[in-house]
Amino acid sequence: MSKYVFYITITRRRGVNIYNWWIFCRDSETNLLIICVETTSFDLIFWYREVDLILAKLSHMQTRAPDDPTVREFTATVTGIDGQTVTLDHTYFYAESGGQPPDIGTLDDISVTDVQSTGDVVEHTLASTPTFEVGEDVTGVIDDEFRTYCMRAHTASHLIYGAGRRILTDLGYGGFGIDSEKIRVDFTTTTSINDETLIELERLTNRAIWESRNVTWETVPTTEATAREDVAFNTKTEEGVMSDADSIRIVEIDGWDVAACGGTHVANTNAVGPVTILDRSNPGEGMTRVEFAVGPTGIDRRATQHRALRETAIALETSITDLSDRAIALRNERDELESQVNDLEAKIIDSAIADFDSIQTDTAVWRVGSITEISVAANDAGEAAKRALESSPGIDDKKPPHGSVIAIVGTSERPFVVVAADDASDVNAGAVIDELTDRYGGGGGGGPSFAQGGGLDTSASTVRSTLREWDQSSPWWWYHVLIRFSGANNSIIFDIE
Ligand SMILES: [Zn+2]
Repeated sequence: MSKYVFYITITRRRGVNIYNWWIFCRDSETNLLIICVETTSFDLIFWYREVDLILAKLSHMQTRAPDDPTVREFTATVTGIDGQTVTLDHTYFYAESGGQPPDIGTLDDISVTDVQSTGDVVEHTLASTPTFEVGEDVTGVIDDEFRTYCMRAHTASHLIYGAGRRILTDLGYGGFGIDSEKIRVDFTTTTSINDETLIELERLTNRAIWESRNVTWETVPTTEATAREDVAFNTKTEEGVMSDADSIRIVEIDGWDVAACGGTHVANTNAVGPVTILDRSNPGEGMTRVEFAVGPTGIDRRATQHRALRETAIALETSITDLSDRAIALRNERDELESQVNDLEAKIIDSAIADFDSIQTDTAVWRVGSITEISVAANDAGEAAKRALESSPGIDDKKPPHGSVIAIVGTSERPFVVVAADDASDVNAGAVIDELTDRYGGGGGGGPSFAQGGGLDTSASTVRSTLREWDQSSPWWWYHVLIRFSGANNSIIFDIE
């Protein structure tokens, strides 16, 4: 943006001379700019510097980072300062766009904390108000480590997309983002991406890196780019690229992938280094997000996983390759043993219940006790009580009051209690639990044949005693009398509760 000529034309309007200063300028790429400044006196002086500044502001200046991504230091002229925001006549700082974060670095040793493109100019935000002024030359230095990371990350995303082209059906680009630890690529595909797919994506990607494929970029007419079926477009992340109706930037990995992209890339895939896929998720309908890492995060993750595999193989006395067979065999063995233990425990519990004292009352044959041989959870005790009830011989005809009730009381500090009552008894298990929880706190409930409660605020022995004396507080015949009265008069005479 330095070659320009200007002419003056003089016209006379209403007796006044009008001077039109015409500036013709061809910028470094293609654009011819024509600027006209109208003055009413001839002595307006255009300093070359001022013309430069006007032209720079009008030239729709974009970052040069994508086209020359290896530039780390440059000199530019300051065209504007607004507080801590600075614009330059040209810049190699990457402005945040398309999922790639802005560059960091310095302008004349002042930290650049943010770089954004307004569409016309690139605004550099500084950590402090600059000491330089508009029109001065400044030195821009781009943080090499971060930019190099972004170049590798961006190229890696194209590599993974290229790998996806080979194994995923109806592949589309959904989004992209780089952060300091990891990178994400969102795919749309009809293929369900499982762990095996991720492993294959990673393997193909690293193979393409090893194959040292050239990476090139060029700006082509949009019509030409959109006509090519092999170009991946991401209308979300490539807004900057797509918004220019005339031309579009294409990034091509030789023989692997072609995509519309405005980011910074390495020139050969071998500069990407190892790529490690970290995870996958579903950010939305029909979308799969693949998270991956380049550099230390990925390398460290692999070391962690390799170490864990080695340690697991040693612990299981096998090799890494035989690990899954060994794990499956152990799991089957464990299941077998667990089943045997469950059977044995059930036998111990059944035997303990069979040893409970039988109490013949007016409503049922009660068997009340606690299991002290092994630790039993409330649910297991409940199942055991139901089982014992089924195998309970009861007494002769199993008519009231000769049905059976099994009550098991836990032995923990705030004990549980389970009650199973068969139909031949006159005991409502749910009512027993309600009464116990009313009296001792805790909670629970159930129906007539089975109920359980827990958290009783008393000792197991107190609960056992209460249950053993249960029928003395509510004789069975009293209920029968009330019910008969009720039935005979075809209406409820007494409230049974
Ligand atoms: Zn890219």
